[in-house]
Amino acid sequence: MAIVEVDKAERVYCAQPGCHHTVYKAIHVVREDDRFLVLGSTCFLKRFGSLTALGKAQHWGGNGKVLTSEERALLAENTQALLARFEAEEARLREEAEQKLQRLREELARRSLPTQAPAAAPFQISGMRGMSLRGSFPWSWMMPGSSVAAFKLRDGSGWLRVQHKDRRQFIVPWPSFEGWEESLPPVVGRANLEVGGYEVGHVVDAIAYLRAHATGEKITGVWSDVTGLLGVVSS
Ligand SMILES: [Zn+2]
Repeated sequence: MAIVEVDKAERVYCAQPGCHHTVYKAIHVVREDDRFLVLGSTCFLKRFGSLTALGKAQHWGGNGKVLTSEERALLAENTQALLARFEAEEARLREEAEQKLQRLREELARRSLPTQAPAAAPFQISGMRGMSLRGSFPWSWMMPGSSVAAFKLRDGSGWLRVQHKDRRQFIVPWPSFEGWEESLPPVVGRANLEVGGYEVGHVVDAIAYLRAHATGEKITGVWSDVTGLLGVVSS
């Protein structure tokens, strides 16, 4: 049923017939038919042939729970009551652990929401709905009605965060230039030559990098705002 331990001063008698030893460490509490036996590990071994003969202890995982004086008194006088108390205490601990886990899950869900939201939902600008701005942006793959974030970097290059119709985020050079695919570090994303921009892994990190190197920034749904910051392409 359990393996327990008591203070040496409160050691108990081993119940194995003929053994008159007292025990305090690794006290094996065994149920045999309708009675309980309190055995030292040596006598347990003698009686059952092996320390693992009865399988894992039902209470406390066989970890040698140290009993309080009160529990020690119960062990000697009313083993059944002690085991009932173990049962109740273990149930309470299980409940506590479950509640703790639940709180942790909720906390994690709360924390991960703000960082996931921008990547999962399109950037909408209030009042933009119904306006057709798609034609004014130069990317056919762009999510209709979404806004962009434009960054003018200190090296003179211009970059935009643009959301794809499939909801992926890209950092796109504007105006595009030779070698753009090798000019930003991996924290921004991976160059996607087909789209013509960096496919963003973590939008927050990518934006943080651009912001740290920018002299100007604009979040907008209006193309002329972008050209105002980054310039127009002369062709
Ligand atoms: Zn014994």
